Amino acid sequence: MDSPHGMPQGLAQDMLQDMPQDLLFNPLIRAENTEAVVMKGMKRKYYRFRASRHYGGIVTADAIGCPFLCVYCWNYGRNENPAKSGEFYAPGEVVERLTSIAHRKGIRLFRISGAEPVLGPASFDHLLEVLPAGRFIIETNGLVLGARPDLAGRLAALNASVRISIKGWDEVSFERISGARREFFRYPLIALKTLLSAGVDAWPAVMGDLFGANGTKCLAARMDEMGIRTRIETEYLERYPSVLSTMRKRGWEISGKG
Ligand code: SF4
Repeated sequence: MDSPHGMPQGLAQDMLQDMPQDLLFNPLIRAENTEAVVMKGMKRKYYRFRASRHYGGIVTADAIGCPFLCVYCWNYGRNENPAKSGEFYAPGEVVERLTSIAHRKGIRLFRISGAEPVLGPASFDHLLEVLPAGRFIIETNGLVLGARPDLAGRLAALNASVRISIKGWDEVSFERISGARREFFRYPLIALKTLLSAGVDAWPAVMGDLFGANGTKCLAARMDEMGIRTRIETEYLERYPSVLSTMRKRGWEISGKG
């Protein structure tokens, strides 16, 4: 998987020039603009509620809206145009749907997926009212939590675990994967450090197909420099045709076989 030059396969140096310019956005501005579209008062846009096999069985609310446009996002289209799909649900309605599926399926674990749960204060308040549904794993890209340590600190009082999906092992790979400008690479790591310091059960996760062993090693070194010492979870790519197509368009060569 790894290239001979310490750069995981799929990210050749000459590809770094090919990034479409409209993707090199400020993700904090995008988070704010997206929150304005997917939040109405305390209601947030969701498009599906389901039980899924992840974590050995978890009830999942699939939301819309993210400050990133990751090259491997399986919900890319909805996150690119959040106005076009989904319906608004109040926190109580989300809890009701999640707990109803949980009772039917005998599952006790919950998450929000397909989007970023924390886009700003409004979506954060919505999340806080959904968390009492039960034991939650908050899956986040950590961007806004890194920019707003006050919000990250408030999670410490809650009985939730936080999994931060890290979108690159350095500034350049972060830009290539997330579509956001490279100077925001550190924000998710700041969020991780803040949460761990506050005693929250938090850990980083990386996409193994893109990171390879070298990328994961580079990230571990960056974390070490910041005084972050914790395990790194590795996940693997869901090879949906739409995902492979986006990856090809953005210059990542990856086989269609898992
Ligand atoms: S952070 Fe997650 S939801 Fe957002 S674009 Fe990336 S993969 Fe999709």
